[in-house]
Amino acid sequence: MTKCGTIYLVGAGPGSADLLTLRAARLIESAVLIVHDGLVDPQVLAMARADARLISVAKKRAHHTLPQEEICALLVREALAGNDVVRLKGGDPFIFGRGGEEAEAARAAGVPVEVVPGISAAIGAAAAAQIPLTHRDHASIVSFVAGQCKGLSEQDWAGLAGVGRTLVIYMGVKTAPQIAEKLMEDGLAPDMPLAVVENACRADMRVLHGPLAALPELVEREKVKSPALIVIGEVTAEIIARGAEMELGVEQQ
Ligand code: SAH
Repeated sequence: MTKCGTIYLVGAGPGSADLLTLRAARLIESAVLIVHDGLVDPQVLAMARADARLISVAKKRAHHTLPQEEICALLVREALAGNDVVRLKGGDPFIFGRGGEEAEAARAAGVPVEVVPGISAAIGAAAAAQIPLTHRDHASIVSFVAGQCKGLSEQDWAGLAGVGRTLVIYMGVKTAPQIAEKLMEDGLAPDMPLAVVENACRADMRVLHGPLAALPELVEREKVKSPALIVIGEVTAEIIARGAEMELGVEQQ
């Protein structure tokens, strides 16, 4: 009987390869089969062996190249055929990465599964843009939400944003107008500061900022593209101050 392979759900981090964990790097370098999605940086894929089989299941606009059930079936089929599978995902596999569904599919089929965490986009973007997600003076709560998963209007974000807290919105570029409206309806001040971090941890990163009420205009004017995160809260006011100082030549770097 063929020995069953293991499915490794591996976080590839938000961009540059040097943000991988050592465990992820080791698995990528030794893998013979890598199933990856579109957010994985080419630098990371370039670490694979020359003879590794790379299968892309990248999302193309609204639809997946492969529906999630087929991705799960592919992983399980390969493992049952005796192959170890490195399932490589941008950021962390368990933060809006559908890693939970893949782990369930593996367990249901009796296939061993291991999870290797990655630096999620929020953590990477915060570091790259120097926005502390928590700060003793400004925020002691931080929440991660999806701006475009299941119906935005059905999601209860009450209390997640506001004074003393930071809200990080993944997948929120397309729904930016509805997000701004929803948060202001929930009572958030229109002048609450926010930052948009596009292509965090990559050479072409952009950090934009403005008040909540101007979010839709900011996204449209600057033609913000996915992948981008919206960070809302007082912790982002600091980058505005820093930007002003830089313009005045106060901050030297
Ligand atoms: N599992 C991933 C998230 C997948 S959802 C993680 O933990 O990071 C995809 C969303 O993540 C994108 O729409 C975007 O909001 C965010 N994202 C991923 N990589 C990003 C990057 N380099 N810069 C900014 N946002 C990013």
